[in-house]
Amino acid sequence: MTHIVHRNLREAPPIAASGRGIWLRDASGHEVIDGSGGAAVACLGHGHPHVVQAMKDQIDRLCYAHTALYSAESAERLADMLVGHAPGGLTHAYFVSSGSEGMEAAIKMARQWAIESGQPSRTKIIARRQSYHGNTLGALAAGGNAMRRAPYAPLLSDAFSHVSPCYPYRDRRDDESEADYVARLADELEAEFQRLGPQNVIAFCAETIVGATLGCATALPGYFPAMKAVCQRHGALLILDEVMSGMGRSGTLHAWEQEGVTPDIQVIAKGLGGGYQPIGGILVHGRVIEALTKGSGTFKHGHTYQAHPVACAAALAVQEVIRDEKLLDNVKAMGALLEQGLTERLGNHAKIGDIRGRGLFWAVELVQDRASKAVFDPALAVNERVKKEAFDRGLACYPMGGTIDGKHGDHVILAPPYVCTAAEIGMIVERFGDAVEAALARL
Ligand code: PMP
Repeated sequence: MTHIVHRNLREAPPIAASGRGIWLRDASGHEVIDGSGGAAVACLGHGHPHVVQAMKDQIDRLCYAHTALYSAESAERLADMLVGHAPGGLTHAYFVSSGSEGMEAAIKMARQWAIESGQPSRTKIIARRQSYHGNTLGALAAGGNAMRRAPYAPLLSDAFSHVSPCYPYRDRRDDESEADYVARLADELEAEFQRLGPQNVIAFCAETIVGATLGCATALPGYFPAMKAVCQRHGALLILDEVMSGMGRSGTLHAWEQEGVTPDIQVIAKGLGGGYQPIGGILVHGRVIEALTKGSGTFKHGHTYQAHPVACAAALAVQEVIRDEKLLDNVKAMGALLEQGLTERLGNHAKIGDIRGRGLFWAVELVQDRASKAVFDPALAVNERVKKEAFDRGLACYPMGGTIDGKHGDHVILAPPYVCTAAEIGMIVERFGDAVEAALARL
């Protein structure tokens, strides 16, 4: 008997008992490789001694002080590490407790920027279909994941509208070059600005790599520069959601470093604290902060647990490990092995439509057959079947997708910790390959 509202109300999950490195063990003793770090969270795996010690030290000194009264040393040091060198012109950080809270902060800061830079008519945000920005009502309204939105649609603000994501696997026409497809997407964004009135748009908002809805869908070269050009033409901001794809997951600290653009506001979370504590945040361009500083001089927002000292100490320690152990090099090297292994093992499977990703952030899209790319009936829950087969074989992976709009297939994400070795990648590929084949064979 459980008294917790679990995701599945009919079947309680196993109790996670302990974690070491890339391994997780449940109360029955069953051990699995944490092959997706939860939902691309546990970037250092479990129990990293430097992070654990940093948390203990912080807890011994100070657990909590409200940000209306104090700042915490760990928060100051974390901000300094992230934006002290102003990457891409990002000069300020604001810390909250999750990715969704980060999105809410990004949305509200962008609106406040509009007001305080003398442009109060800007009230609309353009985001993308088949995207996910979080489950709080503002973030959910920004998101374009049809299945997650559907039950709550009557509660979602109409300040948000949606254009197509960059999803060449399904959306690029056969007779269209990549450049023409990108140009078509830029035209679509331009048309949406015109429909809303360019003077009414606060920002365009996108995941740099689409995670939970499309499964590690990277943009084509030139896509983000083309989208940013549209924003700049109309004086609107670019908000990049790197909650899943950021903080090293793609092989560079920020996924936008590989896209040829810099955001005005960037949302971060998962890899920031690696799951050691709940923490997310936004990194903000100097000109946005300048408008608020010269204007009201406050950010009209706040949460009781923002910039929590222990969460910031944990995140600081995680980022120190990524830097000191040169883990971005390992993300690139192990990512190349993972891509190669998945391609060799599953690349010719009749029901694997696409294998895509970057760094240590990879997904397979599962389809009824490769030629038609027909999606599975969501009732079959193919992604969940793969998850279960993998779990039984000692591998945790992240099942996503399932569609009510037929616009994308089931997919399963692998996002191993940045500390994984070549031998561990080999085990992940083997267990995952076996699980996918078994799940598809049993349909
Ligand atoms: N944005 C993206 C891109 C995400 O992947 C997620 C979480 N999967 C969120 C926002 C929301 O983050 P959280 O679950 O921490 O609220």
